[in-house]
Amino acid sequence: MRDWVTACIGLGANLGDASAALRAATHSIDTLNEVRLTRRSSLYGSSPVDSSGPDYVNAVVQVQTRLTAPQLLAALQRIELQAGRERPFLNAPRTLDLDLLLFGDARICSPALVVPHPRMAERAFVLRPLAELAPDRVSAEQLSRVAGQSVWCLGPL
Ligand code: AMP
Repeated sequence: MRDWVTACIGLGANLGDASAALRAATHSIDTLNEVRLTRRSSLYGSSPVDSSGPDYVNAVVQVQTRLTAPQLLAALQRIELQAGRERPFLNAPRTLDLDLLLFGDARICSPALVVPHPRMAERAFVLRPLAELAPDRVSAEQLSRVAGQSVWCLGPL
């Protein structure tokens, strides 16, 4: 039997009722087999970065899982599809985006999965909620590098 691993998942949406989409996705994650939701950040608003459309709503959740990282990513992609996610073009506005940010201390670099998520260190909308629930995984230096990006707290997830 595999050991439980602590993983962090980034959630984002900027179409429709984005806060409701993130709450529904959090519930879906919590009901996955071999996955237990252990912590959730607040909801944060952010302006689109490398994307377009309305402001984003973002959050990060922490889970314990006995899935492998590729299995967890596949489960997250199924939840995205259930939420009506389409990919008409790169970085299009989205009803739901789920990113596997961290998987224990694993470093993974395959064609389908890169962990830690390659762009998380550049994004205040990931680092701020991640720092709220896993302060040991985000340094003050990382936060200061994204301090110019506008991110605001919207309340509980
Ligand atoms: P996106 O359209 O932004 O959700 O990107 C999804 C694509 O990124 C998929 O093809 C994934 O296989 C790939 N990918 C690579 N690393 C990750 C990761 N850590 N979390 C989520 N998707 C990833």
